[in-house]
Amino acid sequence: METSQQQLHCPMCMERVPFMGEAALRSHLALVHYHCLPYPCTLCLGAVRFPSESDLCHHVECQHGVLEYRVGFQFTNAAMIGS
Ligand SMILES: [Zn+2]
Ligand SMILES: [Zn+2]
Repeated sequence: METSQQQLHCPMCMERVPFMGEAALRSHLALVHYHCLPYPCTLCLGAVRFPSESDLCHHVECQHGVLEYRVGFQFTNAAMIGS
């Protein structure tokens, strides 16, 4: 039986803390993990991050062989990268 209730978990935290929704998870990721690089590769469990969607897609395509990667996390407010 499938669970109708979707619980989101942070892929980078060892603790399986459920988030109330995608927005909450995104906020957590942005604040705690991806300060400036808003595009993590979820296939790498967030170990690799990229400053732009195109960079992420290129990585996923080359490293994971996924041609159509759905960018799940976008932080328009985290546009400041480095410098
Ligand atoms: Zn986390
Ligand atoms: Zn990856």
